[in-house]
Amino acid sequence: MSSNKSLKIWIDGELLNQADAKVSVYDHGLLYGDGVFEGLRVYNGKIFEPEAHVRRLYNSAKAIRLTIPMTPDQMIAAIALTAKANQFNDCYVRAVVTRGIGYLGLNPTKCPNPTVFIITDLIEMYPKEMYRNGMAIITASVIRNHPNALSPRIKSLNYLNNILAKIEAVDAGVSEALLLNADGNVAECTADNIFMVRDGLVITPTTNDGILEGITRGAILQLCGKLQIPCVERTIQRYDLYVADECFLTGTGAEVIAVTKIDGREIGSGKPGPITMRLLEAFHKHVRGEM
Ligand code: PMP
Repeated sequence: MSSNKSLKIWIDGELLNQADAKVSVYDHGLLYGDGVFEGLRVYNGKIFEPEAHVRRLYNSAKAIRLTIPMTPDQMIAAIALTAKANQFNDCYVRAVVTRGIGYLGLNPTKCPNPTVFIITDLIEMYPKEMYRNGMAIITASVIRNHPNALSPRIKSLNYLNNILAKIEAVDAGVSEALLLNADGNVAECTADNIFMVRDGLVITPTTNDGILEGITRGAILQLCGKLQIPCVERTIQRYDLYVADECFLTGTGAEVIAVTKIDGREIGSGKPGPITMRLLEAFHKHVRGEM
């Protein structure tokens, strides 16, 4: 879903009309996927967990030796300004920092000025009935990037690994694909973290399993604490998911969504489980500041 009104886009310090907000074909974000980004949400006029998102953005930039030409506070202010300029009370935010304009070679030191832009728009969620009935996923044949090749903890503009897995999901007629890591353990989905529930215990892979440290994932772990639902970060295998009582995904766009089928195996009762539904409800309250 995208808003059909003409949007204001924040780009390098200016708010421009959508049609005028352009980046160069020499931008290394485009030529090499050299850059970092964040996806955030505005709920009820308030950015959800701005500090956590901005920390991750600046850490991603640091990991690829990219200096963002503004402070974290200025970034948060620019995001708020963009959402306000578009009169959005609830929206999705995409904040992108590229290496900037350079030459056709790789050397990033030849790109003196990073490009920064912020888009606010309506959010494409999964269909409503999927939140009620659960979704099916498959395991992709491609594995998640090895952390020593390109750490999945870096939210870089290089999403080909995820896109290749997403193509497999689309081919299989499902909305998400699970990626395993190089050890064959469960990592995450193409744009969501994964959780399972077994005997009342909520389990999600550790950051060492090669995942993006999701902000929604962090919020869910905190909510488990508040609700006194036992939870743990632990390496899991595909078998653990197949025999789980419940499974769900988390992400800025998806929020919390039950997985009821993996690789043709029904998970638990085949319906969204009670702990998943409790956490989904708690998350909705949390984002509106009610919990
Ligand atoms: N994993 C990947 C690969 C992602 O791109 C995302 C973000 N959509 C997530 C997990 C979830 O992270 P967050 O909760 O911060 O959106």
